[in-house]
Amino acid sequence: MAIAGRFDTHEVTNQSPPFADVDLFALDAPLQEAVRANGAAEEAKALSAFGQRWGAADMLDLARRANAHPPELKAFDASGVRRDFVEFHPAYHLFMAESFAARLHVSTWRPDGSAASAPAQVARAARFYMAGQVETGHLCPITMTRAAVAALAAEPQLVAALMPKIAARDYDPVFRPWPQKKSITLGMGMTEKQGGTDVRTNTTRAVPAAHGYMITGHKWFMSAPMSDAFLVLAQAPGGLTAFLMPRFRPDDSLNGLRLQRLKDKLGNRSNASSEVEFTDAYALRVGEEGRGVRTILQMVQLTRLDCAIASAGLMRMALAQAIHHARHRVVFDKPLAEQPLMQAVLADMALEVEGALALVMRLCRAFDLAAGDPREAARARLLTPAVKYLVCKIAPSLIYEAMECLGGNGYVEENIMPRLYREAPVNPIWEGSGNVMCLDVLRAIERDGETSRAVIADLANEAADLPGARAASELIDAVLSSGEPERQSRGAVERLATLAAAAALGSSGPSQVAELFARTRLGAARGATYGTSKVSAVETAAVLKRALPE
Ligand SMILES: Cc1cc2nc3c(=O)[nH]c(=O)nc-3n(C[C@H](O)[C@H](O)[C@H](O)COP(=O)(O)OP(=O)(O)OC[C@H]3O[C@@H](n4cnc5c(N)ncnc54)[C@H](O)[C@@H]3O)c2cc1C
Repeated sequence: MAIAGRFDTHEVTNQSPPFADVDLFALDAPLQEAVRANGAAEEAKALSAFGQRWGAADMLDLARRANAHPPELKAFDASGVRRDFVEFHPAYHLFMAESFAARLHVSTWRPDGSAASAPAQVARAARFYMAGQVETGHLCPITMTRAAVAALAAEPQLVAALMPKIAARDYDPVFRPWPQKKSITLGMGMTEKQGGTDVRTNTTRAVPAAHGYMITGHKWFMSAPMSDAFLVLAQAPGGLTAFLMPRFRPDDSLNGLRLQRLKDKLGNRSNASSEVEFTDAYALRVGEEGRGVRTILQMVQLTRLDCAIASAGLMRMALAQAIHHARHRVVFDKPLAEQPLMQAVLADMALEVEGALALVMRLCRAFDLAAGDPREAARARLLTPAVKYLVCKIAPSLIYEAMECLGGNGYVEENIMPRLYREAPVNPIWEGSGNVMCLDVLRAIERDGETSRAVIADLANEAADLPGARAASELIDAVLSSGEPERQSRGAVERLATLAAAAALGSSGPSQVAELFARTRLGAARGATYGTSKVSAVETAAVLKRALPE
């Protein structure tokens, strides 16, 4: 009988076993600490069950399949009649069903659409972070559905009608009018060919009609096109306005959403992103005419938060894969993980992931507390764009470095690394690209200078004992008070988010980790690559043990 791994010419040895059938929560000490520190300690058992489920080998394989077989547009049926239907691989639907069952699409809302009480945001973020480690494409409709509720709040009647369908746990992919479905998902359409950031340039028009509006125009990017309805922006007589556009009209006929084609994307391949034309598409107004941007920004703030959580999750999986491999792969008679230079690279990456995780979880805590605490509301407002900026931006380079730790194995498609790597750049680009996030931080400070400065002072106080904290807050101050804050805003926003990460680590992790993070990220100049931070052998061992127990 043939023995697995034995060829006629050689035997397979010195390859790392798959990182699978693991509990993504139990293996992640920083995650457990962040959950505890941010008020969700009682979730630990349920999070461990979630971590086991999502870390199972079959989930990882399903994620591979969902991305290897991207969705296909079926614009017409055999008779040439429009269908405007997108067909997904069954694995994609399985992930949607899993995330629905775990309520990732709605757990931060009560059944009436009001905000769920703390620690709803933190508990969901811990799950979203783990789900993001496994399959991120399907999280696009999941995040848009949960975020849409914030925009719909402008129309209580719509919330009352839709909430029972949004809140349902049974994922229902059947393509039929939303009132006939067990559950629904929601998407958004803002970006047009001539402008995504500057939505004031939208040319799509909305004309008042008998029971709503008729919308004509296009969207250049509209993801998750099989959503049951979309929050879209269009020019109404009173200015740019938000609308809810369902896939079917009230008489059950197909609404005038004509899917032109699906984007051929770098990553995010399990998810569909469409180009779409609206031809007299029926829609309902959400919020007042002329207040579209303000209305839809309620939704965007939450999708930005999810971009950062998902990017932190992608980094975590890349780091875990790298450490796992380095512990099993022997080079020059010693496991890679015991070689000082590889240790330096791994520990530097582990610190980066610690900071990103602490940062997003503390931000979720601010969202949890915002309703009853104006200072936390101001923290959430100021830091959301800063956190999205930093966490989403560092993910691609960290994932690449982790890929290199696996050598050539990290570069081939049987491995998860190429998928993680391709997935990473979408989060910094969509829902406000890097520069736009920096401008948004400046806007928050301009609009509410005193409160924003109080938040920055809070962060400086929380991190006061940490190296570099004072210098960081002075730099932020100097940029804000300079005559040209916009030109220097990337540096200031990066410092702001790093200061917030140090402060978050100070309150959630062991003091040595916060100290080490601040020393290497705020206190000293770092090189352009991982492994250039000055970290001792003892500190390295402690950081790696926390990152992934042996
Ligand atoms: C996979 C994917 C899915 C998407 N899904 C959706 C979706 O479902 N719905 C939707 O509406 N959109 C979606 N988008 C579109 C996305 O939100 C936009 O691409 C993004 O907002 C940027 O807009 P833009 O492409 O028009 O670029 P532009 O607005 O032209 O921006 C180009 C660059 O200029 C920078 N910039 C903009 N303004 C300034 C300024 N004042 N100063 C300095 N720099 C500036 C930006 O940071 C960016 O780097 C998706 C995009 C991708 C890649």
